Amino acid sequence: MAYRAEYIWIDGTEPLPYVRSKTRVLGDDETEFPIWGFDGSSTNQAPGENSDCVLRPVFSCPDPIRGGNDKLVLCDVLLPGTMEPHATNSRAAAVEAFEEYSDQEPWFGMEQEYTFFKENRPLGWPVEGYPAPQGPYYCGVGAIEVGALARRIVEEHTTACIEAGLHISGTNAEVMLGQWEFQIGPVDTVAVGDQIWMARYLLYRISENHGVDASIDAKPIKGDWNGAGMHTNFSTRAMRESYDAIISACEAMGQPGVSEKHLAGYGHGTEDRLTGLHETAHYSEFRYGVSDRGASIRIPWQVAQDKKGYIEDRRPNANADPYVLATLITDTICSALA
Ligand code: ADP
Ligand code: MN
Ligand code: MN
Ligand code: MN
Repeated sequence: MAYRAEYIWIDGTEPLPYVRSKTRVLGDDETEFPIWGFDGSSTNQAPGENSDCVLRPVFSCPDPIRGGNDKLVLCDVLLPGTMEPHATNSRAAAVEAFEEYSDQEPWFGMEQEYTFFKENRPLGWPVEGYPAPQGPYYCGVGAIEVGALARRIVEEHTTACIEAGLHISGTNAEVMLGQWEFQIGPVDTVAVGDQIWMARYLLYRISENHGVDASIDAKPIKGDWNGAGMHTNFSTRAMRESYDAIISACEAMGQPGVSEKHLAGYGHGTEDRLTGLHETAHYSEFRYGVSDRGASIRIPWQVAQDKKGYIEDRRPNANADPYVLATLITDTICSALA
């Protein structure tokens, strides 16, 4: 029987890209996903008079929403003719970084925070004014602390990620009411980007079914409310074996010019989110420390105890492009440890 392949790609929306998708019906004899195309003039990826962009399938998995034999097909975007990566194709650089340093076996775990919105306010917030101050919501349980609809979407999303074969490693309710997190990893430099984008797609798609919008805005509510980040946990084989390598990795991230370069690729809204409050370090400062949630890079307590493991870069914003993030961190740390 014919089946559906949902082709998913990353668009050219400024300042941050978003996902797009369209459906291709394939015959049961079509077992390879064909190259496809789209109108780049409608996604900020091409001018109207030369509008075709190419979709190249790079990662596929079962479609847990449609079920059956249907598939999700993540694509990267190429230029027609030359078939070179499009300017918005950030995956190509991640592939290069991974190829250069795969001998060090880089692993990533990303913590994707996000906020549910309904009727222009965070899900669960009152029509006027604010909910009770932050405190009970983080890892909360109960109708007031998190709410039934949010919980239902989170559970559906987690099940969908598992059924799609993604390496989802957990979920939790966050500090601001309406804010949640899922984690992907540990997986390699390219897979973490593929899987974060696929998991974002599933989150948007499942939220849509419930009339809710999931936002990865880094500071959805101004003021004394937590922003949304994408803490990025990283290790190489050497870091998983020795504390010296852990410290060398932190030092590499603190070299002159490195913070500025990384922050430029860590998503939009840094000045609003990395204020030094709400479990962040100020963006103008670099510091690492054990168990320190006010540091730029945290060495988890267990890692200091075991004298090996991984480090957590707490600065990336929720809306960062995981391919860009993973490329920066792989290049900086693996070149220092080489
Ligand atoms: P936090 O305490 O910061 O909230 P989480 O449990 O939310 O931590 O996320 C931890 C992340 O670290 C997970 O995505 C997990 O896959 C990842 N992780 C665990 N071990 C490693 C490792 N050795 N290298 C890279 N990432 C790792
Ligand atoms: Mn977390
Ligand atoms: Mn978190
Ligand atoms: Mn974290």
